[in-house]
Amino acid sequence: MPIEILLLEDEAAIREMTSFALSRAGYKVTEAADVDEAQAHLSERLPDLVLVDWMLPEISGIEFIRRLKRDDVTRDLPVIMLTARTEEDDKVRGLETGVDDYVTKPFSTRELIARIRALLRRTAGGDSDTELRVQDLRLNAESHAVFVGDSAIQLGPTEYRLLKFLMSNTDRVYSRTQLLDFVWGRNTYIEERTVDVHVLRLRKALAPYGFDRFVQTVRGAGYRFAAKSSKSSADVTSARLPSL
Ligand code: CA
Repeated sequence: MPIEILLLEDEAAIREMTSFALSRAGYKVTEAADVDEAQAHLSERLPDLVLVDWMLPEISGIEFIRRLKRDDVTRDLPVIMLTARTEEDDKVRGLETGVDDYVTKPFSTRELIARIRALLRRTAGGDSDTELRVQDLRLNAESHAVFVGDSAIQLGPTEYRLLKFLMSNTDRVYSRTQLLDFVWGRNTYIEERTVDVHVLRLRKALAPYGFDRFVQTVRGAGYRFAAKSSKSSADVTSARLPSL
């Protein structure tokens, strides 16, 4: 389950060089040459992190980030700004907009990768904690691995993202529409039923360890991940397709 990065950079040479280096480092990179293209990608799939060049034609990188921050679905995406600007005023402006970190051009790819790792660690859940945990179930956001005790659980990329979202927001109920927005991104071409399919797959993967009961159907409302499984909440869980 590779970590996905959206790279928004208008200069083809820098974009390709950066994309190549990040791919070699094991990241899955989606390239965009302008804001429209980046937003089209975001509406189909949310990345784990966004790299944005400041100086873009028409709509600037900073305006793009403002848009990300105005939208509930993209607000929490970690953002690194690529910039030739070093003036303090610009950095302050960027930080006020919600940029998490800067890399000043020209940069070494080694430095960029180090910044990406540091930011992912910071944003993975707490300051130093990259691990989400519910009892013995652990999800490592840095390595994209899921364990129960010493056993690694194999999940498809969508099930992983779904579990990560649910474990980050335990005991809250999300409708299928909300899950589509938060886990898949705003793609109008995906049917709500798709959520049910992936919830079933997730339960199946967790079932050998008893954690399927934590992924609960709340009738008429949606799904939630319980921080604790109890007899009564297990009753809420339906093994078959729920009728919401
Ligand atoms: Ca540029």
